[in-house]
Amino acid sequence: MRALFIDRDGVIVEERQVDSLEVMHFIPHVMEALRQIRRMTDFELVMVSNQDGVGTPSFPLASYELVQERILEVLRGEDVAFDDINVDFSLPEDKCPGRKPGTAMLSSYMDGGYELDKSFVIGDRLTDMALAKALGARGIWFHAPDGGPVPDDLAPVISYESDDWLAIAHFLCGDEVHVHRTARITRKTKETDISLALDIDGSGKGRIRTGIGFFDHMLEQVVKHGRLDVEATCEGDLEVDEHHSVEDLALVLGEAFKTALGDKKGIERYGYEILCMDEVHASVAIDFSGRPCLSWDVDFCREYVGSFPTEMVRHFFKSFSDSAACNLHMEVSAGNCHHQVEALFKAFARAVRRAVRRIPGSDEPASTKGVL
Ligand SMILES: [Mg+2]
Repeated sequence: MRALFIDRDGVIVEERQVDSLEVMHFIPHVMEALRQIRRMTDFELVMVSNQDGVGTPSFPLASYELVQERILEVLRGEDVAFDDINVDFSLPEDKCPGRKPGTAMLSSYMDGGYELDKSFVIGDRLTDMALAKALGARGIWFHAPDGGPVPDDLAPVISYESDDWLAIAHFLCGDEVHVHRTARITRKTKETDISLALDIDGSGKGRIRTGIGFFDHMLEQVVKHGRLDVEATCEGDLEVDEHHSVEDLALVLGEAFKTALGDKKGIERYGYEILCMDEVHASVAIDFSGRPCLSWDVDFCREYVGSFPTEMVRHFFKSFSDSAACNLHMEVSAGNCHHQVEALFKAFARAVRRAVRRIPGSDEPASTKGVL
């Protein structure tokens, strides 16, 4: 079990002594984000709040309860229910062990039943991050970008910093929670020696180096617009020509996709893109169906772009379709040949990005047959 320990003031509602409904203001997108986290993750939601001096004349219990009940009621209306609520009423000078960063209120989470190293504390103060450290959990520091320096002892605890709830939801529901879909392929023949590492859930980093300048430039587009992380080298027999390098790199990239996508459960499967580049527009549709097929309605106006033969563009995508086992339909309008080729590569990348996207909450194969 994992828990999300969530501070209240400064995180769910604006930071201040919230002792009346007039001063209760929700942080933007907190409901949307918490609902998404609730639906897409297995975190238990645990509120952990210091409410200084509740029960004293300056902060009557009834005032606290009115606000607290209203906050919980509004959140419940948005499908956000807390599994547990822990509020400490003491003052700092009381040095109460339940007051954050003390963990006395949270001892039931520390008996081994929770995976605290996979749990998070979300809070706007460094005492919240100190609580994360004391729990053996990780911290999400909720603060604006100029939040100030972090003490050295807390820096390793803080996994994420933002005052944007949607970004935090993405962090918790997205790549950090899911296992990244990756593959590492090496392929050596008498014609090429290729090593390629692919992370489908990347951010558009890395490079593919084949020694063919224009081809590398096109592959850069695939990495960037596909938001893939790729590191690859291809040493090919360029003294013969570029044919083997282009073909084999495409085969390896396709194989890497096939490997990384695995059983393809929970993905969109279909992707498409219509993309313009000045006077040219390209359209690409892809289906990771398990079957290779290239439909190619492309008429390049020149045989070469620079020294790169345009016939190799079709060969690249045919080889990718063969090894990734996908349907690939590609069209491009007339125009500048460089633009035609580049538009096709970019549209391909963006179509792929859509097709491999995980559908939130789905673990089903995108086929009535049950397998892809
Ligand atoms: Mg706070």
